[in-house]
Amino acid sequence: MHINDAVFLEDLCPKFRLRQWRKSIHKFTGKSCIYCGKPSESIDHVLPRSQGGLSTTENCVPACLSCNGDKSDENALHWYRRQKFYDPRRAMAIRAWLEGDLRLAIRLLQWANPNFRENNIDKKQKETKYKAA
Ligand SMILES: [Zn+2]
Repeated sequence: MHINDAVFLEDLCPKFRLRQWRKSIHKFTGKSCIYCGKPSESIDHVLPRSQGGLSTTENCVPACLSCNGDKSDENALHWYRRQKFYDPRRAMAIRAWLEGDLRLAIRLLQWANPNFRENNIDKKQKETKYKAA
């Protein structure tokens, strides 16, 4: 009964569900743009809606406004390859995301973005620098 009630409530409030869903997408990447790593301010459709792309988690990635606007209606992977901030690890992450393997995508993004584990890595790097000097 409770489960049915919950589904019914969400169906009654699609806006609430949409907001929760958007939040969860940003959370996956720690609120950073999947393309360039800057703060994500929007959700980008990897396959544009104009080309039949759906608003599903697999097709929607967190993106900053600059990437989202610049990419526009282009195929995300083609567009991304031409960017100055292109990183093959991020390209792999985007591909994994599209295939619905969010865990792999997040692991690749963490690898590409050292800010995820900023503190530990910073300490280690400082130590090695001191030793080398
Ligand atoms: Zn970006």
